Amino acid sequence: MKRHRNVKIVATLGPASDTYDMIRALHEAGADVFRLNMSHGSHDEIRERYAMIRQVEQDLGSPIGVLADLQGPKLRVGVFANGSEELAEGAAFRLDLDTADGDGQRVCLPHPEIFAALEPGASLLVNDGKIRLKVTDCGADYANCTVVTGGTISNRKGVNVPDVVLPLAALSDKDRADLEFVCDLGVDWLALSFVQRPEDVQEARALAKGRAAILSKIEKPSAVKCFDDILAVSDGVMVARGDLGVELPVSHVPPIQKRLVRKCRAAAKPVIVATQMLESMIESPMPTRAEVSDVATAIYEGADAVMLSAESAAGQYPIEAVTTMSNVATEVESDPTYTEIIEASRHAKRSTVADGIVAAAREIAETTDIKAICCYTESGTTALLTARERPRVPIIAMTSLRRTARRLALSWGTNCVMSEEVTRFKQAVVSAARAARSEGFATAEDQILVVAGVPFNVPGTTNILRVAPCEERLIYASDPE
Ligand code: PGA
Ligand code: MN
Repeated sequence: MKRHRNVKIVATLGPASDTYDMIRALHEAGADVFRLNMSHGSHDEIRERYAMIRQVEQDLGSPIGVLADLQGPKLRVGVFANGSEELAEGAAFRLDLDTADGDGQRVCLPHPEIFAALEPGASLLVNDGKIRLKVTDCGADYANCTVVTGGTISNRKGVNVPDVVLPLAALSDKDRADLEFVCDLGVDWLALSFVQRPEDVQEARALAKGRAAILSKIEKPSAVKCFDDILAVSDGVMVARGDLGVELPVSHVPPIQKRLVRKCRAAAKPVIVATQMLESMIESPMPTRAEVSDVATAIYEGADAVMLSAESAAGQYPIEAVTTMSNVATEVESDPTYTEIIEASRHAKRSTVADGIVAAAREIAETTDIKAICCYTESGTTALLTARERPRVPIIAMTSLRRTARRLALSWGTNCVMSEEVTRFKQAVVSAARAARSEGFATAEDQILVVAGVPFNVPGTTNILRVAPCEERLIYASDPE
């Protein structure tokens, strides 16, 4: 399906979008990737949703990316005898390992490793940061705190510990079971929540064994600090502004978003900007002006994808939310200022033959009348490098691997087309021209660019750049083997 925009849209599925018809309508409205949130839903429900996505993919014919989002190490307090308590500013409150029901003075925090890592002065945030506690003294099984910001604390509320690198396993037992389950299902991307260090990513990669690409959610201050190292071992990144805005002052989030988006583009790895993008559309068919501006900002920054969470999973207007994102994208991307911004932030450092070839492809496409850049890619790398150039003409990624086509659904401007396995260059040119015509990017009179690596099917060999006619007779007449 030909899209008239480059930025991709990720839509989270949930109770509001749980049917074949809804998933199909969301895809037709513009969702390129669907996110399965492993924090909600049983394996049976996830399996059903996955099957419906693949059915839509088969019925509509363009590759769809599926991203499974693992819950990760989320801390929670125990329960209260009264269900909840009011904590007043300035009061003392204690967290400990005692499993007895909590009261106005204390509650269980059933994570011994947290107490071992806490130090006096550390902040603990409860219930999405609404309550703030400061540790006054602590030991192996307790932390005495002062309430800095009061509020209602209730059963099993989440706890964030922003200032401390927690000695927590990146993947809980539930995450490991979920990972195995979704990798077996066949998801394309695994998102890791609360990544703290590069080792966390490597652990998941070892378990995934190549079955899915690994996307790191940046939602801890520690992950922001060692972001370069995390990026180096990840296949993609999510700027997870929900938890990031709890763990850090919210005002710190926009500059971090800008920096991370740029670094991901420089590394040719897809980056998603996520959370509260169209929050008011959970209940309203119209977004606020500020939300529209937020989506636009992420696109102007050059993000690969923008994401819907509750808007599409649990809101009343999932299709309208996708349509809104798509319309904003179309407007922004046709603004000459967008092109200026994107081109001014192009990464200048080039060190490989492949870097040079994709840069040359963009130059040629933009100085002559070329309708599309068609890249042959098995691992996806050639397409990712082409996308990093952010060319003004469409990118068609040709691959014989369905897995690669689906992963690239997340990547900026990449139109994925399944091709038969090619062994000869002329064959590659013919099928690229065919794809450009049948997908509506070019006619028989037009010219395209073909980027490939010969010999085929050897990763990392991008070494050919060819200007080719779209008409088959001319290809056969003009092309060498
Ligand atoms: P979540 O992650 O929706 O799984 O919490 C995204 C975020 O924190 O922004
Ligand atoms: Mn989160």
